[in-house]
Amino acid sequence: MAIALTGCFSARKQQTAQTENTSFCRYDPSETKKLVDQEAPPPPKHEYKAAATKRHELINTKLDISFDILNQKVFGKANLLLRPYFYATDLLVLDAKEFDINKINLIKNKQIVKPLEYQYDGEKITIQTPKYTRQDTFEIQIDYIANPSEMQGEGQGLYFQDYDTDNPQIWTQGEPNCSSAWFPTIDAPNQRMSQEIVVTVDTSFTTLSNGVRDAVLLNNDGTKTVRWIQKKPHAPYLTALIVGRFEVKKDYWRGKPVFIYFEKEHAKSAPYTFKNTARMIEFFSRKLQYDYPWDKYSQVVVRNYFEGAMENTGAVVFSKAELYSPIEDRPMRPVVDETVSHELFHHWFGDLVTCESWANTALNEAFATYGSYLWIEHEYGRYAADKYIYKQGGMYNLVYLIDNSSIVNYYHKSPDDMFNIHSYQKGALTLHSLRYEVGDEAFFEAISRYLKKHAFSSVELADLRICFEEVTGRDLNYFFDAMFLDKGRMNLDIKYLASNDSLNWTIDVKQIQKERQGPLYKLHVPVDFYMNDTIIRKTVLLDKKQNKYTFSFDKKIKLAKFDAENSLLCKKKENRTIDDYLYILKHVNRYIDQIEATNVLDNLIEDEDVAYAYLSLLDNSYYMLRLIALETIPIKKNTSYFEKYKNKLSQMATNDPDKEIREAAKKILAKL
Ligand SMILES: [Zn+2]
Repeated sequence: MAIALTGCFSARKQQTAQTENTSFCRYDPSETKKLVDQEAPPPPKHEYKAAATKRHELINTKLDISFDILNQKVFGKANLLLRPYFYATDLLVLDAKEFDINKINLIKNKQIVKPLEYQYDGEKITIQTPKYTRQDTFEIQIDYIANPSEMQGEGQGLYFQDYDTDNPQIWTQGEPNCSSAWFPTIDAPNQRMSQEIVVTVDTSFTTLSNGVRDAVLLNNDGTKTVRWIQKKPHAPYLTALIVGRFEVKKDYWRGKPVFIYFEKEHAKSAPYTFKNTARMIEFFSRKLQYDYPWDKYSQVVVRNYFEGAMENTGAVVFSKAELYSPIEDRPMRPVVDETVSHELFHHWFGDLVTCESWANTALNEAFATYGSYLWIEHEYGRYAADKYIYKQGGMYNLVYLIDNSSIVNYYHKSPDDMFNIHSYQKGALTLHSLRYEVGDEAFFEAISRYLKKHAFSSVELADLRICFEEVTGRDLNYFFDAMFLDKGRMNLDIKYLASNDSLNWTIDVKQIQKERQGPLYKLHVPVDFYMNDTIIRKTVLLDKKQNKYTFSFDKKIKLAKFDAENSLLCKKKENRTIDDYLYILKHVNRYIDQIEATNVLDNLIEDEDVAYAYLSLLDNSYYMLRLIALETIPIKKNTSYFEKYKNKLSQMATNDPDKEIREAAKKILAKL
């Protein structure tokens, strides 16, 4: 198990910039071309990975935990309430890695009934119980010592940081199957349990777990015993326990507490990074028509967390690498919110409705990745959201040439391998395509239906498809099969052909992906036709190796644009002219189109027509396009645009809402 890839690593991994680097992500087209001209290899196929068979069902887990921090040991007493799932059985198998087991007892009415026989192989405990049917519930108690630091090359589940100093810290990481390194459980995502964690620590420590803290008892040996209870069931991998010395800040969302925990050194960056959380909870609750379901929402910054963050129910762990420092006088930019919104969205997609197996990791991760898009779109606008999704597409396009697996992948190597570009990036891009395939209203109604129908249970891809079919009345097998279950992505060769008077148009679209690269896709695609001030939207069905669409208008069309919303996950080749790109720069108010136009036009910036088109970008509402224009327009005194440019620069140096742009404008002015 590669720890670095365990858990919910966010898009942030591939991104630079603690300081919101604005040299942004424009892909070098020559670099992309080099890679795209190659063919992706066939995806590797390992053994079929089924969802875990449910022989028993977890109902409740009660843990009584204390630590020997210096020797990195966990002393535990686990009371598990269980029932046979369907078939009557007298054998119970639990996951428990590297434990020393003291005893296992059968419990009834809080009393020990009898000790139980068991066998233990270092990973699984097989316990002989009385024979129970699915009508029975029974309770066992396991008295154990867990030794998570002895796990070799695998997820330790629980980590002691600076254990030999006077300021140690403890935190857990259960995903994908590591909780069983610190408490006995059935460590599979298709199990669910309510839980009670009773933890005894030195009084100088703060503890955090899932659910609510409902009791604190001071002991007379300098320790305290804290009880955390979560009555709503979640999967064992979401169980969290954090112990350390933290400052705590409290906010509220509709009366529910929203806490942040951080160490002193993060006293500025943590409150800044998490400041939108309560508003995000409100936005997602409304957008999903499903109120945030858990008791509270806490976010904690821990020491030496591998990477990213982890969506433990109501107790989200963050690496300090996820923190941003407030930058004076600069509008807050979406990158600060990316991981915060990702982890929060998991509280519906992952925690409330959980993938039944890691083959279906995308049902957690694609949604969480797309959750950031939804928040950015809401909070910062379409330009910023499209920049985010464009970045996801660029990441996928590069990686799929090395690994061309499907999103849902039953033939993966190990659970860790499923935390990949397919589950996250391709999954999010596919949800984006699905949103445009069915329309906004149907999309949000279908995902809301999916949450309500499957709340507090586990799901596979078909459950999502069925909700979309129930809402839209359409058979969506073709979409789900091609996009989620098949490899690769579309490769389109698009030719725009206009009559001399520009009234009659043919758009000739070929799907040129080779069969081993990806299937033939069937999708509805919006097409926009631009006249001066008007855009006419048409929708066509893309369903063949070659589709030809014809259109007639009574007014001259200046530009046609297939895939008007850039919602298709594809590579596109279009027969564009320089005039087309200049028109796009001035009139197509979409980040992806404009940024791709600059990729071509940057090289022609010495041409005054091109420089004029960039001048129009200086008025764009999106700071990044203004910045690109500022950095690209050549400063030449003998050009026809020079005076206009100079005046614009003076305005921007004083009036631009973005500090960075004001400074960039001042710098250029100083050079003049
Ligand atoms: Zn995630």
